[in-house]
Amino acid sequence: MSARNIPAPPINPENKRYFDAAAQGTLLVGKCNDCGEAHFYPRVLCPHCFSDKTEWVAAKGTGVIYSYSTLHRGVPVPYTLAYVTLEEGVTMMTNLVDCDPSSLAIGQRVKVVFKEADEGAKVPMFTPV
Ligand SMILES: [Zn+2]
Repeated sequence: MSARNIPAPPINPENKRYFDAAAQGTLLVGKCNDCGEAHFYPRVLCPHCFSDKTEWVAAKGTGVIYSYSTLHRGVPVPYTLAYVTLEEGVTMMTNLVDCDPSSLAIGQRVKVVFKEADEGAKVPMFTPV
């Protein structure tokens, strides 16, 4: 399997902490201290109750595949886009990597891995457990 070039993520003041943590091998999700719900991606205002009492918490980094699709056409190297539902209850769009796409299944357990993108940033992706 040849490696795919991962475009550098657009890093801005709102998500810098997320990518700084990813560079250290930690996946962050947002958590609201008013309603207690987790959210993704992390942001200043809680998307459930609009409270600004949000914080960043480290996710366990494990979850299950909610849906996925492997792209073969129009890309130099096939890759698998997926929605993964984390233990924390939030679903994130990501890539499934280091696996045979034909062996994947919805509901399969996966764990986070951090893949280096262009310009050195690390991007959280998932691989089967
Ligand atoms: Zn809330």
